[in-house]
Amino acid sequence: MMKLMRKGLGLAQRVLQTILGQTIYGYIAGLCNYVFYQKNPIVMILYVLLAGGGFFVYVKIGFDKYLPGPYVGEIHKTTGTIIMLLCYLSFYVAVQSDPGVITKSNVLQALRRYQYDDIIYFKNNECKTCKFSKPARSKHCALCNVCVEKFDHHCIWLNNCVGLKNYRWFITFVLMHALICIYGGILGIFIFAGIIKKERLWEQKFQIMGTGETIEPGLYVISRYLFYSETAFAFVTILCICMGIMLTGFGLYHVNLAMNNVTTNESYKRAAFETYFEEKIDFLEQWKEFGDGFKFEEREKKLFEVDEKWTKQQVESSIKKTKERQKVNIANFYKPWSKWESFKSVFNPPL
Ligand SMILES: [Zn+2]
Ligand SMILES: [Zn+2]
Repeated sequence: MMKLMRKGLGLAQRVLQTILGQTIYGYIAGLCNYVFYQKNPIVMILYVLLAGGGFFVYVKIGFDKYLPGPYVGEIHKTTGTIIMLLCYLSFYVAVQSDPGVITKSNVLQALRRYQYDDIIYFKNNECKTCKFSKPARSKHCALCNVCVEKFDHHCIWLNNCVGLKNYRWFITFVLMHALICIYGGILGIFIFAGIIKKERLWEQKFQIMGTGETIEPGLYVISRYLFYSETAFAFVTILCICMGIMLTGFGLYHVNLAMNNVTTNESYKRAAFETYFEEKIDFLEQWKEFGDGFKFEEREKKLFEVDEKWTKQQVESSIKKTKERQKVNIANFYKPWSKWESFKSVFNPPL
């Protein structure tokens, strides 16, 4: 399958090269490489446009035209602005924060920080780029081209890695934006409810454009009317509601990870190992039941690290070992504290 995909990609590349010519193709390939495989501020600029533009629309229409309204007071101009400024601040702090970049001068300290679990992290495993032993829980970020302590993930919104030293700023950034979006969404709904009340929309008759047919007001008709009369503000309100729901879910997901002292990187790897251990135990149990002369493919030999010369005892001992590793994987090697203590430790990283 992979081979076929690679062949297809190669063919597509050659076709494009012929159609576009070598120079233009080179530019496009370079651009794609920059956008997808290099550290770049494109998504960060999108954030500035969304968070800056969204707030601008909110101030120009929501605040200036409709505050105070029948259901919302003047105070929201102040509270909304303060929360938005705190959002921008959390973005700035998270963008310029050090995720815990490992250098030659701090690698020894980093190596002492966590023990190796012998499942995801192994001793004496060298980073080929940085040329030093990888500390447990660290990972080399291909975009930033550095190893990061307690690596969580590379955040394209922040154009920065998220790790041991800045996870607190990342969580703050996500939760602050969940808050402003929910706030903006709810405030927007109350502002629109105020417009309905002020303009007595439930008592009006509406005309269908084009046909001129008169219709009674209903929720759908009023919503459409509002969307057309205040398009930009309605769009921002809907965006706030959708983003608010997504960011709250994402924020809670990270709060849960923090409470369990697991990184995003580890949560994926542990899930993959869980499947692997289950498959390996299944495979070995089958072998044990079948007895001598059990046949398997070269692929399985490599995958499960087994040898056809193994005796029954060796197969049994491998089952036992795999079950032990499975237990460690499920229990999480790095979970020494209570949930609350683990969560608090995120905000108190070693500096
Ligand atoms: Zn590295
Ligand atoms: Zn990175």
